[in-house]
Amino acid sequence: MLSALLEDTMPIARKYAGPYEYFSHKVRIGKPDECWEWKDSVGGPGYGNWFHALEGLPKAGAAHRRAYILFNGDCDGLQVNHRCGNKRCCNPNHLYAGTQKQNHEDSVEHRTHVKPPYNRGEATGTSKLTEEKVREIKLKLKEGVRGTELAKEYSVTVQCISLIRNNINWSWVTLP
Ligand SMILES: [Zn+2]
Repeated sequence: MLSALLEDTMPIARKYAGPYEYFSHKVRIGKPDECWEWKDSVGGPGYGNWFHALEGLPKAGAAHRRAYILFNGDCDGLQVNHRCGNKRCCNPNHLYAGTQKQNHEDSVEHRTHVKPPYNRGEATGTSKLTEEKVREIKLKLKEGVRGTELAKEYSVTVQCISLIRNNINWSWVTLP
């Protein structure tokens, strides 16, 4: 039997045959060890928007949580965390059910471990940046400064700025 969370998907995603079909349309499915990123819109916390119905009204929920439930049946009332630190990722191999505390420990770990395989830090050319600089960049983006200008100012690529803008890299750096 499907989790109620997933049954609720169907009134909104009528054109999909079921939650698996919805998932496969919205997620860029890659190799088992790669990040499978949500292709559609992303909500405030940086997670993919999985649309479902709440009391008949459309509502966006965290995509990675539903992806986990889709493949594992349930998350036993725990929150679903990322092993990879990539909030858009919906690869069930990168997800685990855990506590808020574990999630925090994960993000601490991601802050200090910037080595592959998860394409963070130096692998994506963002190693010139520090958390402080990234915070400045995020603030400037919010103020409307263009990515091309920021790339020049911080001697990084436009791609790097766009990864910051989309919360793919440095997603743990938040504005106060
Ligand atoms: Zn991942």
